[in-house]
Amino acid sequence: MINENPAETFQTPKIFPLPENVLRDVIKKFPTPFHIYDEKNIRENFRRLREAFKWAPSFREHFAVKATPNPYIVEIMARDGAGTDCSSIAELFISEAAGVTGEGIILTSNDTPADEFRKALDLGAIINLDDITHIDYLERNARLPEIISFRYNPADIMNDGNDIIGRPAEAKYGLTREQIFEAYKICLDRGIKRFGLHTMIASNERKASTFIYTARIMFELAVKIKNQLGINFEFVNLGGGLGIPYSPDELPVNLKMVGEGVEKLFREILVPNDLGNVRLAMESGRAMTGPAGWLVSTVLHKKNTYKNYVGLDACMSDLMRPALYNAYHHITVLGKENFPCDRIYDVTGSLCENNDKFAIDRRLPHIDIGDVIVIHDTGAHGHAMGFNYNGKLRSAELLIRENGNVEMIRRAETLDDYFATLNFPNARIAIRN
Ligand SMILES: *Cc1c(COP(=O)(O)O)cnc(C)c1O
Repeated sequence: MINENPAETFQTPKIFPLPENVLRDVIKKFPTPFHIYDEKNIRENFRRLREAFKWAPSFREHFAVKATPNPYIVEIMARDGAGTDCSSIAELFISEAAGVTGEGIILTSNDTPADEFRKALDLGAIINLDDITHIDYLERNARLPEIISFRYNPADIMNDGNDIIGRPAEAKYGLTREQIFEAYKICLDRGIKRFGLHTMIASNERKASTFIYTARIMFELAVKIKNQLGINFEFVNLGGGLGIPYSPDELPVNLKMVGEGVEKLFREILVPNDLGNVRLAMESGRAMTGPAGWLVSTVLHKKNTYKNYVGLDACMSDLMRPALYNAYHHITVLGKENFPCDRIYDVTGSLCENNDKFAIDRRLPHIDIGDVIVIHDTGAHGHAMGFNYNGKLRSAELLIRENGNVEMIRRAETLDDYFATLNFPNARIAIRN
């Protein structure tokens, strides 16, 4: 599909926050490839989520740190009142570094090692258990906390499962319906008095109805558990999974509709059951930072064989999503944003791995070696997913501050970093010479 006139046909315009000459200056200072994030965009995304839930008693967003695990990014949202959702010890440390502490942090991990639980307890974080057996594990390896919650897996309740997490019944996460009643009972018997309830069903979901439906399942469950066990839940956490329009043909989640739909259910289900003080929480990652990040890269090579290839200085170690999920990321060419898209290219990285393509059969303007390629919507699950296969090094991360300053918030990896875990005597010396 050729979009000759983007303004008329695009539903979600794909823009880059800096003018061409400014980005070219940034590249002189910080060589490509790099991810660059926009503080203003992140704060706006978070503001829209807060707006949608401003009716809710002390609504809290726990930003899913795994989306963009950089304390500079976490700090932006923390200053505006966000907590964090962590699923590893590193993410707990990032939260702490960014100034998020206590019950602002929720540990929603799975297959959790003991040191993670201990660190979470040290921080006073809320522990959200993924399995009924973790109650004993936690007690044995650390201690039971003052407040606890469980992750509910509603199995076959959701009918439109998702590629990434899969149908809930097939997903490794959470407790079954039977187990979740049992789990709260065990915790009550062991003296725990404060409780929350959690689920995370969708991933990259843009239909408001999915989130409203999730709320219904959770509110009804909270009432059932309350009636059966006499628990007054302090919070219900609806998880993350808010999708974003990766393609210009897509629209963002209608957050206003989500907020209004959830509010209606809150009043219908929770309020009459004396649960009107329940704090609503979400753990959005993607929708906060995804559209606020871009991977900027330079064309190193062009190759014409059975297909036409454009080879970048970035690769899959900077952005896994296209290779891993066959995910679409919009691509623009700096300075050629309004040129006709009359060529077809595969846009590749340099891994010895045929999946290492940012786009396949993509209509783009004519590309020259040295062109700057902007890959859109890389702010969440982008740099974060990077890896070192093939000895490739992960890129730097930059941040455009609200005053327009561009800061490097993580340097690119060096060969020294790559060899730092090796003891082999000459390996590290060789790269320095
Ligand atoms: C990944 C994850 C999130 C965030 O998901 P997004 O799709 O980035 O919103 C939230 N909660 C848990 C438990 C997760 O694993």
